[in-house]
Amino acid sequence: MLITLVWLAGRYEASQVQSRLERDAADAGSDIRTALSRNVQSLQALQAGDPGLLAWEVNATELLRLRRELVRIEWRDNNLRLRAHAQTPYRPLSWDAASREDAHTDAALACTNARRLGAPAYSGSYFQPHGDGMGSEMMELCLPLNSAGRPSGFLVATYSLQEMLVDLVGHNLTRSQEASFTEADGTRLAVLGAARRGTRMFTAQQLLDLPGTTLVLRMDRWHGAPNLFPNVLTALVTAMSIALVTVMVVLVRDNRRRLRAERDLADALAFRKAMEDSLVTGLRARDLQGHITYVNPAFCAMVGFSPQELLGQSTSAPYWPPEYADEYRQRQATRFAGGMPPREGFESVFMRKDGTRFPVLIIEAPLINAQGLHTGWMSAFLDISEQRRIEELSRASQERLQATARLATVGEMASLLSHELNQPLAAISSYATGSLNLLDSSAPGNLEDVRMAMQHIARQAERAGRVIKSVHDFVRRRDQTREAVPPQELLDAILPLISLQARKLGVRVHTTVEPHLPRTLCDRTMVEQVLLNLARNAMQAMDDPAIHPRILDIRVRRGASNAYSGWLEFSVTDGGVGIAPEVAQQLFTPFFTTRTEGMGLGLSLCRTVVEQHGGFLAYEPHAPRGTVFTFTLPVCQPTPT
Ligand code: ADP
Repeated sequence: MLITLVWLAGRYEASQVQSRLERDAADAGSDIRTALSRNVQSLQALQAGDPGLLAWEVNATELLRLRRELVRIEWRDNNLRLRAHAQTPYRPLSWDAASREDAHTDAALACTNARRLGAPAYSGSYFQPHGDGMGSEMMELCLPLNSAGRPSGFLVATYSLQEMLVDLVGHNLTRSQEASFTEADGTRLAVLGAARRGTRMFTAQQLLDLPGTTLVLRMDRWHGAPNLFPNVLTALVTAMSIALVTVMVVLVRDNRRRLRAERDLADALAFRKAMEDSLVTGLRARDLQGHITYVNPAFCAMVGFSPQELLGQSTSAPYWPPEYADEYRQRQATRFAGGMPPREGFESVFMRKDGTRFPVLIIEAPLINAQGLHTGWMSAFLDISEQRRIEELSRASQERLQATARLATVGEMASLLSHELNQPLAAISSYATGSLNLLDSSAPGNLEDVRMAMQHIARQAERAGRVIKSVHDFVRRRDQTREAVPPQELLDAILPLISLQARKLGVRVHTTVEPHLPRTLCDRTMVEQVLLNLARNAMQAMDDPAIHPRILDIRVRRGASNAYSGWLEFSVTDGGVGIAPEVAQQLFTPFFTTRTEGMGLGLSLCRTVVEQHGGFLAYEPHAPRGTVFTFTLPVCQPTPT
């Protein structure tokens, strides 16, 4: 359409040029006609008042001076013989006087015509040589003269076609126009105007129908071709077309870029979806009202509900165990009231669709959108049941290991134990023998002695029983339970076992417990074993002939600094050989020992136990000799009522 528009605009412009040319040609035609008829009148005026020949010649010359297109005026009689003539002053024309004397052929033809018509008549054009090798196209006009109603001769005027163009048309001609008289076949008789300019020619023809002859006035106009921008309209349309094409190109490019961006976006989305789907962490998003807005497949698999069953739920999610629902609702309310969740997450219990409960680790974070607005909460869930199972397993095996270690300790102490039991048993045996002797002698008053012996036997048996019970208590495996224990009780429980070895090695055992100490929250059996281990290690470190005196010092006091005010500090000090640097490096490594009969489990177990209670186990050298092992246990905080 645009191309058609451009073409039409070009055509319109050409037609404008053409019609202007036609108009110019018509104007020029009418100018010529007017001039010719005016000349006829002027010529007729020459005869007015029957002038004499001389006066006529003067007037004719004057007329020729005024009308340049006329080159000669002749007055001829009825037989066309020349009576008088006048010649244009502008151009020296060498007329063949002889030929002009008689009736000139073309003039004769015109005069015959004129006489017949009784009106002025024109001859056809003819070429008149000028005698200087040049010539020009001429045309004769013949006016029949009458006097008193009778023909009295002719007035013959000669027109130069070239001069006609110059004088009658020339003033209206533009620089790019060319005017010419042509014959019917297109032969040019006279030409006026510019040489060819421009690329395209427009032509208009005007027929000058004169009595006796017909002239064709032709006007040519060279036009600077329908240029690319011939006028404003075309320029506008072209500019618009260019703009349109540019816009189209830009649009196509933009579209392509858009498509590429869409494809990239789709890829990124697919990648993200794949990531979300293959994630083992459950993800859930909630809006600020608590409605679930998103759950990933891992979360659905974890709880066993489909996304449709979960999305949109708010006040009570189907995976909340009924027994915890109130607590969870409370937690949710705190969250929506602006309470920030702990960064490291918190543990909770969820319920699968089949009703089974499982522990989860929840990490929550506020959901901030692209504009930086807080739009909800995002939570990640980890099913920690497997982790829990493994923890349980390791705890069980740890316990078994500790039980084994306890048995091993007892095994090591078996000889000490037999020695310890030997004393009461020997005492019982001697008391029993004494009693029997007393009974045999049956002396009066013996009964009192027998009773006393029996009482001794009972006391010794009780002592033996206590020894056995302390071993039994120690070895017996109990469930791991925390209870509030006065520190003194912990020492009392192990002292009988310590003193077995202490007596053998000649070690003096000092115990100092700060007065009014609070109770400690601990697993009694485990802590007793820790104390026993440390005490035994201390005594073994002093089992060197060079060391004297051998003192084992066990102290309990409150945590020294403010930071440890909620802790009790147990220290076991010996004056033994100390710990060599190469031993220190592996001190807590399981199965590391320097003793042939040692198992190397003692210190590693001690540290595990203390750390399980939240405390720490450390050691430092003791001046002048020996080592201090220190560990902490938490104070039992009185529960607020
Ligand atoms: P075990 O008593 O079975 O050898 P432990 O883990 O209790 O295993 O101790 C590891 C090692 O640490 C001991 O073999 C000993 O060399 C060293 N050790 C422990 N306590 C002391 C101490 N109080 N003084 C010097 N050395 C010690």
